[in-house]
Amino acid sequence: MLENNFLNTEEEAKLREEVKDFVRSVDPELIRKMDRDEIEYPFEFVAEAGKRGLLGLRFSEEYGGRGLTWTAESVAMEEVGVLGFGLGCAYAMVSIVGEAIYRFGSEWQKEEFLKPIIRGEKISAEGLTEPRGGSDFFGTTTKAEKKGNKWVLNGEKRFIAGGKVADFYFIYARTHPAAPGHQALTAFIVERDMGVEIQEIYSLLGCRGIGTARIVFKDVEVPDEYRVGEVNKARQIFNRMMVPERLTSAAAAIGAARPALELAIKYSDKRKAFGRKIREFQAVSFKVAESLTKLDAARALTHTAARAVDLYDAGLSKEDPRRLVSEAKYFATQAAWEVVNDAMQILGGIGYTQVYPIERMLRDIRLGIIWTGSNEIMKLLVQHEAYRLMQLPSRDRDFEMDAMEWYKEVEKVFE
Ligand SMILES: Cc1cc2nc3c(=O)[nH]c(=O)nc-3n(C[C@H](O)[C@H](O)[C@H](O)COP(=O)(O)OP(=O)(O)OC[C@H]3O[C@@H](n4cnc5c(N)ncnc54)[C@H](O)[C@@H]3O)c2cc1C
Repeated sequence: MLENNFLNTEEEAKLREEVKDFVRSVDPELIRKMDRDEIEYPFEFVAEAGKRGLLGLRFSEEYGGRGLTWTAESVAMEEVGVLGFGLGCAYAMVSIVGEAIYRFGSEWQKEEFLKPIIRGEKISAEGLTEPRGGSDFFGTTTKAEKKGNKWVLNGEKRFIAGGKVADFYFIYARTHPAAPGHQALTAFIVERDMGVEIQEIYSLLGCRGIGTARIVFKDVEVPDEYRVGEVNKARQIFNRMMVPERLTSAAAAIGAARPALELAIKYSDKRKAFGRKIREFQAVSFKVAESLTKLDAARALTHTAARAVDLYDAGLSKEDPRRLVSEAKYFATQAAWEVVNDAMQILGGIGYTQVYPIERMLRDIRLGIIWTGSNEIMKLLVQHEAYRLMQLPSRDRDFEMDAMEWYKEVEKVFE
């Protein structure tokens, strides 16, 4: 209800309606069961999305996708996001793991892994984070050693969404013992049946029901045909994979926060205190105004970031969209967290109970600030780009000259 299509094409607006139709068909009991950790993974949800042709929308029709844009995918992701981060994550995984296989995989890998995940018939998971840390990705310690035509993997990955049930994992491992991380990692597809051990299923604050696990590789043998891309060159795969990883996080966060705001608006129009509807208190209605503005701003930024990737991919822009993607992820997830938190405040005590779903939404949405690259890491990337841009030669006006006493160079002391 609080979404809009002002920046979208007619095709994207239609897609939004199509996805809304799918979202309406999802049984609320599925969300409740997931939150009670009663199911291992929402297999039927993924299968239904696949049947409707809603998974992997960006990939070409040849592989079962629709050849749509990043902006279109963001629209779809926002709408799936209203179901919460758990289902949003299951939906997004096809886009994230799919991107790596689509761009860097062999035809055999596309046939064997990409097509089935787009059809919703196989479940994929991505293994980047290790117990020693997720932010320092290039410090990866999981090792792969070549023995004949096989790679032998040893190490472990932590917090792997779908880790418990996935048919295969997209894994990064160190294949050069001495080189710096960005020149030492190689990507592999590893099937669960190859001997991957599931050692821990996490008890989570939110985002339950997606089998988030620690997975362990002890001398797991992976044939060379499962290697994705060139040896020691996984850096470019990682950089590319981070585009869907972070754009889907941004778009899903907008969707996930929207229902909380909608509930709060409805509630504040009914609930009375001191003989008046609480919406008549500015302290309440201004929260509504601020929240809606935050979501609209987050959507506009996410759209801009997605469009920047579309233009970059089409060769129409040379500007690496990484900064905008990082901004969108950081801004949208932070905004979503604040929106849900304020929605809970509007509902008062009853918002803290399970009578309304806001407490679950709050638990879910908190993860947005942490995962797919924490918001601190996003800010690290953004500031880096800001300084880099200011190093470039500029043909803009020199703003320093706009000062009254611009010529007092002797006062411009920096050390
Ligand atoms: C439910 C759940 C699902 C997940 N799903 C997946 C998944 O499917 N696949 C996967 O690979 N990972 C997954 N993750 C992992 C997630 O991406 C990581 O938790 C995240 O990247 C942070 O890594 P970390 O937990 O090791 O924290 P750390 O990297 O140890 O960071 C701890 C804190 O230090 C800050 N920090 C670290 N370095 C810096 C720096 N240079 N500057 C400023 N601050 C810094 C971080 O922002 C953070 O606040 C999931 C996590 C959870 C909880």
